[in-house]
Amino acid sequence: MKRILITGAAGFLGSHLCDRFIKENFYVIAMDNLITGDLKNIEHLFKHKNFEFCHHDVSKFVHVSGDLDYILHFASPASPIDYLKIPIRTLKVGSLGTHNLLGLAKEKGARILIASTSEVYGDPLVHPQTEDYYGNVNTIGPRGVYDEAKRFQESITMAYHTCHGLQTRIARIFNTYGPRMRLNDGRVVPAFIGQALRGEDLTVFGEGLQTRSFCYVDDLIEGIYRLLFSDYVYPVNIGNPDEITIKDFAEEIIKLTGTDQKVIYKPLPVNDPLQRQPDISRAREILDWEPKMGREEGMKNTLDYFKSLSEEELYKSEHRDFS
Ligand code: UDP
Repeated sequence: MKRILITGAAGFLGSHLCDRFIKENFYVIAMDNLITGDLKNIEHLFKHKNFEFCHHDVSKFVHVSGDLDYILHFASPASPIDYLKIPIRTLKVGSLGTHNLLGLAKEKGARILIASTSEVYGDPLVHPQTEDYYGNVNTIGPRGVYDEAKRFQESITMAYHTCHGLQTRIARIFNTYGPRMRLNDGRVVPAFIGQALRGEDLTVFGEGLQTRSFCYVDDLIEGIYRLLFSDYVYPVNIGNPDEITIKDFAEEIIKLTGTDQKVIYKPLPVNDPLQRQPDISRAREILDWEPKMGREEGMKNTLDYFKSLSEEELYKSEHRDFS
């Protein structure tokens, strides 16, 4: 049986990866420091014989006993609100954490896939974004801690590949949504759905003319799975090219939830990218992959998940202790 370490396992994407690899009959070692992750996302796996949980911060030395065949490094805060609250931890998990996991991969002879991001393109001047675009990032802006950590992560990953012959894979993940997103993490999908369910007006930042392209989580996981087992070492965009303005997206959520809430406008956060759409030609060609789930059905599934949360969870504001 192949053994895989998944970091950030109690998070949104990490938990779906745990499900997928358990389903594929892997032994899964799930690691998380639970700073932004939540055990409820993986508690259904705790009794599984091929699953173990390790409460650990990968920014510190990582030890795993026994053999290891694969590592998926998905540990990181992933919402702009989190980067503002925990900027140094964000920098450390992308840099020190990645270094530790590359060292572990080298020691174990494991293949490692790292979760990079469309944020490496910053506020892009090229549209749609191809993997060859170098990006437009403000190193000292509020998103800089995430963007630069992820850029360093790609860089050190390639260096381990070229210097040590390590088997590495780099996924550039674009906006992804679905069940198990954190309701109050500030990202637009849970923000709008949460507001609609609570009967609050939807807060659109700026004029809402900025665009995003939302990928359903199942599609994303399939893309990651295919990339891991491909032999391609350069970055691959994984996302859904179906682009929409945030203003139109707010209207879609109002329609979907059937509320009569209004859209209200708030100031645009600093360095909020104006346009984002993945060019997925490379993923199509190399992985024979493209997203299958349309936004209407995907958002409906996501809404059903948020509806299943308790009143208490729906109204709870974020009081995490990030110290
Ligand atoms: N956004 C918004 N209202 C909200 C939350 C987010 O208008 O309540 C906007 C945000 O300014 C950005 C887009 O939605 O332009 C996507 O934001 P998110 O934080 O989900 O991810 P990003 O792609 O910016 O990292």
